[in-house]
Amino acid sequence: MTREFDLIAIGTGSAASGVTSRCREAGWKVAIVDSRPFGGTCALRGCDPKKVLVGAAEAVDWTRRMKGKGIHAAELQIDWPELMRFKRSFTESVAKRREDDFAKAGIAAFHGRARFAGPTTLGKPSEAKLPWHSVGCLHGPAAGCCRLQ
Ligand SMILES: Cc1cc2nc3c(=O)[nH]c(=O)nc-3n(C[C@H](O)[C@H](O)[C@H](O)COP(=O)(O)OP(=O)(O)OC[C@H]3O[C@@H](n4cnc5c(N)ncnc54)[C@H](O)[C@@H]3O)c2cc1C
Repeated sequence: MTREFDLIAIGTGSAASGVTSRCREAGWKVAIVDSRPFGGTCALRGCDPKKVLVGAAEAVDWTRRMKGKGIHAAELQIDWPELMRFKRSFTESVAKRREDDFAKAGIAAFHGRARFAGPTTLGKPSEAKLPWHSVGCLHGPAAGCCRLQ
């Protein structure tokens, strides 16, 4: 079976999500693929979680450094399991929400590792089972390309 797309983006992070939604809004037939849970580095492993973890470390560091200078905090420590639970409270929902957003926008979303088999072709990977056999891609509508077989 061959499916045709105007654009297939590899990755579901900030870059791919932005470009796919704009192209979709412009009427393009769009697909997106990611080998990891949807959402990309920033939302799942980068910016947002980092701010929480760094923020906690800074809070402890500042408090320790101000000890005896007007700040008193006995038994100050990071409760790592609790901190990670807090972090997960906003990272865990990202993948499902992103998947729902793609579906709502009419973007075909696939899980698996994509790999280039040629200049305009994404081929079936050896290390992951994908729901397709091969993908011809990365040309806009004007180029009339992008097949997913
Ligand atoms: C610890 C950390 C903290 C950060 N903090 C900040 C910050 O505070 N502010 C800021 O602006 N930026 C920050 N960044 C940088 C920011 O996360 C990146 O700039 C941003 O995520 C890049 O987005 P992207 O969409 O290009 O790539 P990514 O979000 O990395 O997405 C790429 C996606 O592509 C997928 N992928 C890759 N290859 C394939 C393949 N062959 N097949 C299928 N899927 C594939 C990956 O699984 C991944 O999900 C931070 C990064 C890290 C690591």
